[in-house]
Amino acid sequence: MEKNKKRFETQAIRGQMESTGYREHSTPLFLTSSFTFPSAELMADTFAGQADGIIYSRYSNPNTDELIQKACAMEGAEDGFATASGMAAVFAGLAAFLQAGDHVLASRAVFGSTHQILTELLPRWGITHTYADPQDIDNWEQYLTPNTRMIVLETPSNPGLALIDLEKAGALARRHGLILNVDNCFATPCLQRPLEYGAHLSVHSGTKWMDGQGRVLGGLVVGDAELIEKVRFFCRHTGPAMSPFNAWILSKSLETLSVRMERHCGNALRLANFLEGHQGVSRVLYPHLPSHPQYELARKQMRLGGGIVAFELEGGAAAGMRFLNRLRMCSLSSNLGDSRTIATHPASTTHSKLKEEERQAVGIRPGLVRVSVGLEHIDDIVEDVGQALGGRSEGVKE
Ligand SMILES: *Cc1c(COP(=O)(O)O)cnc(C)c1O
Repeated sequence: MEKNKKRFETQAIRGQMESTGYREHSTPLFLTSSFTFPSAELMADTFAGQADGIIYSRYSNPNTDELIQKACAMEGAEDGFATASGMAAVFAGLAAFLQAGDHVLASRAVFGSTHQILTELLPRWGITHTYADPQDIDNWEQYLTPNTRMIVLETPSNPGLALIDLEKAGALARRHGLILNVDNCFATPCLQRPLEYGAHLSVHSGTKWMDGQGRVLGGLVVGDAELIEKVRFFCRHTGPAMSPFNAWILSKSLETLSVRMERHCGNALRLANFLEGHQGVSRVLYPHLPSHPQYELARKQMRLGGGIVAFELEGGAAAGMRFLNRLRMCSLSSNLGDSRTIATHPASTTHSKLKEEERQAVGIRPGLVRVSVGLEHIDDIVEDVGQALGGRSEGVKE
């Protein structure tokens, strides 16, 4: 290890900006839209890119710069850009590169709004796509056309927790000179680093595990410097910049990300083990559970199994909704990656706009429940889930 190359956890903490004249220990918040110059000449040089300096917070800001620097160090990326939300990052990662006539090969199991961008917005600008099944990466090559420019995928997927082999995706992209764009939100750089497998861009919703406490929205695109230059040009002129306040929150959140992820993952594995074999639960999906159909792959490309557990109830949609109604501690919300455990019934909420066949195609059965496992004591989480399943509980009225 090089002398100055600190380890992952240390980079997230010590990668902060130099202190100002006040010698403050914790990074201050730079709530300023613009920055001043001591001379017209330096101002001209800065605008021309011949001198370093921050001009305007739509382009960059000390707080967003610090967040980007830390996130890049953690993900092994050359450069990055911070956006107002995860979706702004997803959109920038597409729009900065695609033009009329281009084709995108995408995993069928992408985030709902990513699906809307691919199916409703990009076609307006003459950009088409083909969906392929996540588990079928060995056969993706057949969907490539002479106009294919990018491969877009998410692993593990939401909410079905299907994995895509990143090494194979990276090799496919390299063979055909395509940009590989991976939404790494579910795993975070703590568990999975797509750039090491040949991805060119790694996209995040900072809103989820990165913030970790359900406070702010934010997004990040990190990757190869040459590509990020295009993302920066797109964002600089279209304006989806992250607010300095959110960057300040998220940069501090990164300091605790790896400690939190270890606990989230530990709790999730224990909940998955509890659910497996529980009466009324027909199937449990968790990447690091040996029964997961892609367990070997999960062990290979994910350091831990992540904070999301999905399971199917035998009674279908009614059982899923009854389970949610019986929870006493866990929250009912569509968010994920919070310190508080959250349960969602995808078929009636996040994925209700999909047609039944579309839900089936991405493995969302009517009885599927998604749990974002929080940082409460695992015994309390298991007790609440257990009583809501109607098993070992007292005083639950049916
Ligand atoms: C939440 C989420 C997004 C969108 O992020 P926002 O911050 O809500 O805009 C994108 N991809 C995945 C996988 C997500 O979970």
